[in-house]
Amino acid sequence: MSSFKQFNLDPRILSAIERIGYKEPTPIQLEAIPVVLKGGDVMGAAQTGTGKTAGFGLPLIARILRHANTSMSPARHPVRALILTPTRELADQVSTNMMQYAADTPLRVGVVYGGVDFRPQSDMLRRGVEILTATPGRLLDHIEQRATNLSQVEIVVLDEADRMLDMGFLPDISRILKLLPASRQSLMFSATFSPDITKLAKNFLRPDPVVIEVARQNQTAETVTQEVYQVTDRDKTDVLIDILKTRGVENGPMTQVIVFVNAKITCRRLARTLERVGINADAIHGDKTQEERQAALEGFKSGAIHVLVATDVAARGLDIKELPYVINYDVPFSAEDYVHRIGRTGRAGAHGLAVMLATTEDTRLVEAIEKLTNQTFDQKPLRPLSRQMRQEARRGERDRHDRERVDTPEDERLARERARAYVPPAQRHRDPIFDTPYRERRTNSRPTEELRVFEREIVRKPRQQAVLLCGFGALRRR
Ligand code: AMP
Repeated sequence: MSSFKQFNLDPRILSAIERIGYKEPTPIQLEAIPVVLKGGDVMGAAQTGTGKTAGFGLPLIARILRHANTSMSPARHPVRALILTPTRELADQVSTNMMQYAADTPLRVGVVYGGVDFRPQSDMLRRGVEILTATPGRLLDHIEQRATNLSQVEIVVLDEADRMLDMGFLPDISRILKLLPASRQSLMFSATFSPDITKLAKNFLRPDPVVIEVARQNQTAETVTQEVYQVTDRDKTDVLIDILKTRGVENGPMTQVIVFVNAKITCRRLARTLERVGINADAIHGDKTQEERQAALEGFKSGAIHVLVATDVAARGLDIKELPYVINYDVPFSAEDYVHRIGRTGRAGAHGLAVMLATTEDTRLVEAIEKLTNQTFDQKPLRPLSRQMRQEARRGERDRHDRERVDTPEDERLARERARAYVPPAQRHRDPIFDTPYRERRTNSRPTEELRVFEREIVRKPRQQAVLLCGFGALRRR
């Protein structure tokens, strides 16, 4: 059995590991720790949940430990290690881990991210901190305010690099990289590998970095059962409720499940709808304050909340152990996000179930996922249980009726009358507005994500349109 002792880490790091309770290194730790200890650059293909934080965090502490001191002077505590993350949650999580790992050393550990008070962060930076975890935008704000500088950074980590690019952080990252000393050690982690990531790695890392892969590229874990159901937009929520109520242990309710959606508005609405039908749900999305997100996350981890409805951005990097279920209420816009989403289940050999609901409009997105993950989904249609049961009952009723039916002379007379009263559609009164066929608007540009969401939420709901029209008419009449 391998052990953390084999890396010859400082006893102050080993004592922390023992206290936390890590018994043996995970695969990525086995590979990454020796390379980072030797000062090499690393390109790591690893998702959250593999133990990658300790994989870079423990050797990073070991490398800068020689600077550790107990002086009160801020000048003696410059930033030596910088960890950049895409989201506040991940920043918080990584920094908490770093604090635990460095707890027996005098190294100072701090974190800065947007959405919270600026002042306590700048005070902390001015006092000095050796290991700084940050989201790019807020870090640049602090640098502009001269609360910190990066001229003495020896190690820089780019965590969840693919997400950073997705979120448009490339200009911020480039600005930060220019402020770092050229002779530094760089580590980059990404769950997926696109040409853009490869390009970033070329600029960010020294030539010939050590490439460490713990899962095959863009592959989904074999321990995850993936199910894709064809649903209609109208049925989607009811189907989700059925799944949440019946696909848990022994056909009971699911209790630890993240439901992924593509838009904040869906996130809010869906969580409210689930609550209304008696499911303990909460939403986690970018518009929530840090405190609200934290509360939702704590509730979920403690088991008080069974269903966390989340957007990709908010859910990235959340450390939730052994999640048994993930549901894609919306098919993600990018196939890479599918890999991320379902990577939250089936971890460390545990079995997981990932369900995705797809409408006919999602066909191209589903095909992109199949291509990326090199598989073909066996898609089955699924309708809400309530409707299925009602239809089956109606079918039974009709069959019984058909069997018992004998046409009487009165039935025949009525049928003749109905036939006489029939007017072919062409002769009916035509309404100039409502009988005009709907014409698709043609644009040359591809719709933005927001536009797609808007169209799905508003435009393709004829009933809502009718309400709007009536309201408008009423206004004009006044
Ligand atoms: P990460 O991928 O870094 O987010 O880590 C996922 C989870 O695994 C975190 O809760 C870590 O505390 C935990 N972890 C990391 N390394 C080990 C280890 N060697 N043994 C057990 N748990 C670990």
